[in-house]
Order: sequence, then structure tokens, then C-alpha cells
Amino acid sequence: MAEFDYDLFVIGGGSGGVRAARMSANYGAKVALAEESRYGGTCVIRGCVPKKLLVYASSFAESFEDAAGFGWTVSAPSFDWPRLIAAKDKEIDRLEGVYERNLGLAGVETIRSRATVVDPHTVRLEADGREVSAKHILIATGGAPFVPDFPGSELAGTSNDALDLERFPNRVIVVGGGYIACEFACIFNGLGAEVTQVYRRDLFLRGFDMDVRRHMAEAMRAKGVDLRFNSDIAEISALSEGYEAVLTDGGRIAADFILYATGRDPNTAGLGLEQAGVKLTATGAVAVDDWSQSSVPSIFAVGDVTDRLALTPVAIREGAAFADTVFGAKPTKADHSDVATAVFTQPEIGTVGLSEEAARESHDVEVYRSAFRPMLHTLSGRDEKMLMKLVVDKASRRVLGVHIVGHGAGEMIQLAGIAVKMGATKEDFDRTVAVHPTAAEELVTMREPVA
Ligand code: FAD
Ligand code: NDP
Repeated sequence: MAEFDYDLFVIGGGSGGVRAARMSANYGAKVALAEESRYGGTCVIRGCVPKKLLVYASSFAESFEDAAGFGWTVSAPSFDWPRLIAAKDKEIDRLEGVYERNLGLAGVETIRSRATVVDPHTVRLEADGREVSAKHILIATGGAPFVPDFPGSELAGTSNDALDLERFPNRVIVVGGGYIACEFACIFNGLGAEVTQVYRRDLFLRGFDMDVRRHMAEAMRAKGVDLRFNSDIAEISALSEGYEAVLTDGGRIAADFILYATGRDPNTAGLGLEQAGVKLTATGAVAVDDWSQSSVPSIFAVGDVTDRLALTPVAIREGAAFADTVFGAKPTKADHSDVATAVFTQPEIGTVGLSEEAARESHDVEVYRSAFRPMLHTLSGRDEKMLMKLVVDKASRRVLGVHIVGHGAGEMIQLAGIAVKMGATKEDFDRTVAVHPTAAEELVTMREPVA
């Protein structure tokens, strides 16, 4: 008789859990995975994928306008929100099927149930009350939107709601200044809504390079987003049609949808972790070491529930590192340095490495910066500039940070990320021959430092 029912029990079928389960099974482990909602998790069902489909949809509006400068006559376009949402849902259903199938093909037993931890080796399946044992338990339960408590906060929506609204909201208020707030402000603005974005401090996208933040604020304002910084909502009330938000400065705004994108909480509530001896951080995340191991040696955690870097490819890497370490005899730490990332706003942001401000705290730096009108807009007539910036360590000549704002920034930064990860110097960038005519060539042709 085996000592445990499973070698590994994974709680959560999102990016991190699915990768860890499949790889562990491929290494020969007997694996089960419980998912309480839908396979694919946040990224596939209510995050990256549906969001990016809406980003594509919203970017067409400008393309129709820009086409005129290139000789096209486009009759007044019209947009059908229910058709977009139905097409998006169909794609998400397809992807969910792929995720579930791939788990099965790898030999993972999938269980549709909420699961909780009973003790260091026991999991309870809430669907039928069964308790099963496992040598290792992996917590991969992700996170959920956080909405602060204030009068009328129950009337606020979250990114989960934004992706499934029955009717297109013509007036939208977005609260927050992070990835989700900025992306959805641009999505609704691009699709034709009147958008007000409310952020509590003086400039959004805290943590990003200051030039990027300023450039984005200017660009989003130029596209019609009403940015209200140093502002917050004090109260929301329901009107016969929609809602009214009262701002802390007393201002009032009516809206059809009020989106709170004010961060996400790790999904640890009611999981039984503390009773099992698992230490949580002050934010309620599972506290883990470099190996994703919790304070209980048999319990590990990966992805958003650990509140390290809440990005899908990071959750996937953490899941893979766990499987390599525990079942593949290849001890591997997940690497959180120089992770390239994109904010799918309009214009897009791509960034890797240190911002100028962060770099200056530990290095003597040289800064290269170029803001220019991309060729696309010479004929489109759109008054929109791209921003490219390199932050270079004077002593070693290493490029410490690359920051791009503009069309295709997300695609470009993936490749710039390889160079930064390899430790490329400014001179390595310089001796790379440009690809012409592109916007990206600016990355290898900036010669004069601006600071
Ligand atoms: P999740 O994907 O959240 O999976 C956790 C799973 O666990 C869920 O399916 C949940 O139902 C299940 N679960 C929870 N508790 C239990 C339980 N007790 N029992 C059983 N099942 C349980 N990242 C990017 O890199 N790029 C993007 O463009 C991007 N866009 C995003 C847009 C939005 C709107 C949001 C919200 C997030 C976005 N992210 C993006 C972040 C990304 O989605 C997450 O970092 C990623 O999904 C985390 O994966 P995970 O495995 O940790 O958790
Ligand atoms: P973030 O933590 O990025 O941003 C939260 C925002 O809400 C901040 O601007 C914060 O302000 C503000 N805020 C927090 N609490 C309050 C409050 N009580 N009242 C008013 N404002 C508040 O979270 P998101 O929800 O935007 O996204 C979560 C994570 O998901 C991201 O950090 C990212 O890792 C990931 N993600 C990645 C995407 C991508 O890769 N493209 C896209 C979407 C999400 P302050 O600055 O003052 O703290």
C-alpha cells in the first residue's frame, strides 16, 4: 500500500497549478488537481486572454481613422458589444477545453471541486466531503479583486464584471492607477465610452519609469480619457439609470459602470492553511522561500497566491521550478530578476529592468531617451509620439533598463528582454545594425546621453 493517495495534490487549475501538475506528472508523479471554477484560471478565463481580445477590439477605432491619411475612405464604423463578448466567450471555452485536455493527456486526475487543506498531508474536497492524502500539496489558488469598503462600494464592479457586461457602458469610471485600471480605461475609451480614471496619488503607474508615466498620462489625455489624479471616490449611489460617484473633492460623476481596479488579494481565506501551520504574510499571501516552499515542508505555493510578481509567465516559471525541484531532481529557483512586462494600454508600454529612478539608487547611470513621431503617423496625421529609453550603468556599460511606449511595445520588449537578461552593454546595442524602417531601430541608434 502506498503511504499517500497522491505524490502531489495541486489546489487551483490556473497558470501556475496547471504547469506544475503537468510537469510533475510527466516526471512520473501521481498527481491530482482540484479546480473550483474553470480550468485556465485568471489568465485564460478572466484576465490576460479575454482582456487582450478586448484590447484588439478597441484598437480598431483608431485604425479606421488613421486609414484616411493613406487614401482609404471608410464609412462610419459601428460596433456591436454583445457580438464581441460572444466571440470572446467562444474562444475562452475553446481554451478551457485545451487546458483540461492537456492535464488529462499528462495523466493528471482532474477534480472539479473547491479544495481545502486539513493538515500537512491531507486535502478535503468540498464537493463530496472526501479527504485525500498527498506527499506534497501545492497551493496555486491565485488572487481575487480587492475593493475597498466605503458607502456604496457594493455597487462597484471589478475586472471580472468588465469582461462580461451585458450592455456596453457608455460612461465608465475606472478607479486605480495600476495595470488593470489603465488597460481597461483604454479599452473602454477605444470602444467609444466616455471614460474618467480616478487615481489617489499625483501620477499613475507607480513603480514604472517616470518618463513612461508622464508620457502615458499625456497620451491617454490626448485620446480623451479624463484623468483625475489626487482624487478618489467617497461614495457611490444608484440612479434610475446607472450610478453617481461622489468624489472626495465633492465633484459628482454619473456612470453606467464603475470599475474598481484597486489591486488583488491572494486567495487564502478559508483554505485551512494557518491551522495546518502555514505562515501567511501581512497581505495574506502564502510566505514561501526561493524554492516556493512554505513554512510547512510538504506544502508549496506558486503564482499570485504568493504575492511575488503577479504575471502569468512568472506563475508558470514558478510552477515549472517546483516540478523540476521536487520531482525532476533538478533543483531550480524561480528567477524574478529582469522580467519583461507589457501594459496593454493605448499606446502600449513595454518595460524590462530598472526604471531610471530605481537605477539611480544603486548605480551611476547614463540615460538615453528619444521621443519621436513614428512613420505611421506622418500620413495618418495623428499627433502621437513614441518613447524609447535606455538606462545604462556608467561603470559596467550594462543596459539596466529598457522602456518603450508606443505601438508594438509589448512585442519589442520581449526581445529587448533577452539582451538585458544576457547582460548586454550599451555598446552591444550600438553595434547591432538597425532594421529599417521600424520604430524599434531607435533602440540601437541612440548615441547621445540626455542625462
Ligand atoms: P490563477 O490563474 O488565478 O488560478 C488560480 C485558480 O485556483 C483559479 O482557477 C481558481 O478558481 C482556483 N481556486 C482558487 N481557490 C481554490 C480552491 N480552494 N479550490 C480549488 N480551486 C481554487 N498577467 C500577464 O502576464 N499578462 C497580462 O496581460 C495579464 N492581464 C491580466 C488581466 C487581468 C484583468 C487580471 C485580473 C490579471 C492579469 N494578469 C496578466 C495576471 C495573471 O492573470 C495572473 O498573474 C495569473 O493568472 C496567476 O496565475 P495563478 O496560477 O497564480 O492563479
Ligand atoms: P496594482 O497593484 O497594479 O494596482 C492597484 C492600483 O489601485 C494602484 O494604483 C493603487 O494605488 C490603487 N489602490 C490600491 N488600493 C486602493 C484604495 N483603497 N483606494 C484607491 N486606490 C487604491 O493592481 P491591479 O489590480 O491593476 O493588477 C494586479 C496585478 O495583476 C498587477 O500588479 C499585475 O502584476 C497583474 N496584471 C498584469 C497585466 C499585464 O501584464 N499586462 C495586466 C493586468 C494585471 P497606489 O499606486 O497608490 O498603490
